[in-house]
Amino acid sequence: MTTLIKSLNDIKKAINISKRDIGFVPTMGALHDGHISLIKACKQECKTTFVSIFVNPKQFSPGEDFDKYPRDFEADLKICKELNVDYIFSPDVSEIYPEKVSEEIVTPPTALTEMLCGLSRKDFFPGVATVVKKLLEIVTPDYAYFGEKDLQQLFVIRWLVKEYKIPTFIRACPIVREKNGLACSSRNRYLNEDKKKLASHIHKSLEMARRDVRSGIFTASKAALESLVYLSQFPDIKVEYLESRSKENLEKVTDGRTKGFYFLVAARVGNVRLIDNIEV
Ligand code: AMP
Repeated sequence: MTTLIKSLNDIKKAINISKRDIGFVPTMGALHDGHISLIKACKQECKTTFVSIFVNPKQFSPGEDFDKYPRDFEADLKICKELNVDYIFSPDVSEIYPEKVSEEIVTPPTALTEMLCGLSRKDFFPGVATVVKKLLEIVTPDYAYFGEKDLQQLFVIRWLVKEYKIPTFIRACPIVREKNGLACSSRNRYLNEDKKKLASHIHKSLEMARRDVRSGIFTASKAALESLVYLSQFPDIKVEYLESRSKENLEKVTDGRTKGFYFLVAARVGNVRLIDNIEV
């Protein structure tokens, strides 16, 4: 049975009667196959599964798509019920950010944020770190599940639990893709079929880069450049960044490595911002 919880009081009660290990999957809803894979991993490992559905206003800057972010609560509920999620935590904004309490924003280190997505989305990582810290403190999970699709976010979350000594193991789950290779994302709902087809070239460009490094044709940075050239033939894809970054700490790869790093990309298709990455 799936129980829907809105208040902090009710979630405390639920946690008290839950069998451990408790597993937790934080989401912003508009659930898709990527989220479903996280929930399945959680259910496999834990006795009780909590899924949060909360569109966190703090991680959107003015002018970003907070108001337009896809919301489909009925469909999300159906998916969670089908997956036998034990608890859905779907608080109102005022429950997480009470107006009378002055908000302490968690600021991750600049080494993790002043690059890649952090350059164009100043509020994003502080907003994510702030809400994930709160949610982990509320749900007190033994395990929490995050997708590798949001790779920079995953590094920030790992920093967060270490920095605040939060006793939750972080599990990273592989990227789930649509048939054409496009990484599943709630924002894919903004794309029609033609745009989705176009967007699939983003993943293709990452595969090309990896292939060229593996076969020894190019160094990581040259392969990234070649992929940028590939994407530049599509005028409706506007690349924000396409870079190679180390596996250890997302530092720039400058030493001609042939493995142990990622290519990461952010690009707009029309006005839909998409991110993706591939491990080499
Ligand atoms: P979101 O609802 O977009 O905040 O995402 C909630 C969680 O789902 C995050 O940990 C994401 O990294 C993860 N996620 C989103 N898309 C995918 C995907 N395509 N594959 C795997 N995990 C994903």
